[in-house]
Amino acid sequence: MLSINKNVSLKTLNTFKIDVISKGFVSIKNFNELKKALENNNYRDYRILGGGSNILFTNNFDGLTIHIANKGISITNESIKDVIVEISAGENWHDIVLWAIKNNFGGIENLSLIPGYVGAAPIQNIGAYGVELKDVFYCCEALNIKTKQIKKFYVEDCEFEYRSSIFKTKEKNNYVIMKVFLKLSKEPHNYNISYGKVKEHLKNKKKSIQNISEAIIKIRKSKLPDISKVGNAGSFFKNPIIDLNHYENLKNKFNDILGYKSENNKIKISAGWLIEKLGYKGLNFGNVGVYKKQALVLINNGNAKGIDILKVAKKIQNDVKINFDINLENEVNIF
Ligand SMILES: Cc1cc2nc3c(=O)[nH]c(=O)nc-3n(C[C@H](O)[C@H](O)[C@H](O)COP(=O)(O)OP(=O)(O)OC[C@H]3O[C@@H](n4cnc5c(N)ncnc54)[C@H](O)[C@@H]3O)c2cc1C
Repeated sequence: MLSINKNVSLKTLNTFKIDVISKGFVSIKNFNELKKALENNNYRDYRILGGGSNILFTNNFDGLTIHIANKGISITNESIKDVIVEISAGENWHDIVLWAIKNNFGGIENLSLIPGYVGAAPIQNIGAYGVELKDVFYCCEALNIKTKQIKKFYVEDCEFEYRSSIFKTKEKNNYVIMKVFLKLSKEPHNYNISYGKVKEHLKNKKKSIQNISEAIIKIRKSKLPDISKVGNAGSFFKNPIIDLNHYENLKNKFNDILGYKSENNKIKISAGWLIEKLGYKGLNFGNVGVYKKQALVLINNGNAKGIDILKVAKKIQNDVKINFDINLENEVNIF
């Protein structure tokens, strides 16, 4: 029997530490339990919850929160060059990175210390320090919420883009990812140390997946708040991608603007730079703060409600629009 709890506080289940109540709450450990939860007639609305590190709750929820809690990892295929690893969606992402490093499998060391579960990683194609999930993604198995059929999505089916995939666009809310298969390299690995800071940390060290991971953990700890102490969901906004013309106009006005070449002759602008330029870095608005070391991160100073955080986010978006004519999109999922 599936045990569904009633009126559960989600405060410890989201990294923003927002205290909202879900009318129903269930942790599922396999496809069968997931199906049973979705077939429960007492709830008309469902929500999928992983580690809660990319979510802002703004209201109590009158439906059933389904927490993904299946566990397991195994190697399903192996060649001289690489391995295919099958990972249950409820596994902690960083634990998998550490497991890969311990086994000398490469490809995800740059994604060290990203909070959350494996099942959510394809949703926004997690990325950091020059690597995105799509670079190692082989396929995933997902349950269609309506038909209850299991479907495999291969990398070419997922429409991965910067912080996006088919699961955030055409198939939004249609599937629950239950397993992710990654293709990880054996030695010799292809290292990515394109980021200046990573290069700097490795100056007098051997290039290895272990050392890259350690460098990235150090860098992340120095600039991001610790989720066990400060409520936050990492970058609140995506870095906007704008036309070259628009960038050149802005560059004439703000010669220190931070932009990087992106695909199709477009420029990806540092959202952190835009917000910092407007003077928000380190400011507090009651219970909500803009993190003092990284303006892209909004923080819960203690007792913020989701709606308070959303108000500050909207104020920043408005200001960025007025001053730079740029629409800042939320990276965090607002519920
Ligand atoms: C301090 C900090 C740093 C971060 N740094 C990065 C970073 O460098 N790069 C990056 O890309 N992200 C980063 N993030 C964001 C976040 O860690 C990732 O997006 C992560 O993949 C979210 O996983 P989660 O399990 O917590 O997802 P949740 O927050 O639980 O869910 C996110 C969304 O995915 C849906 N979802 C979750 N699991 C499933 C599933 N199995 N099937 C279908 N839908 C599902 C949810 O309904 C929700 O819409 C950071 C967050 C924090 C707090």
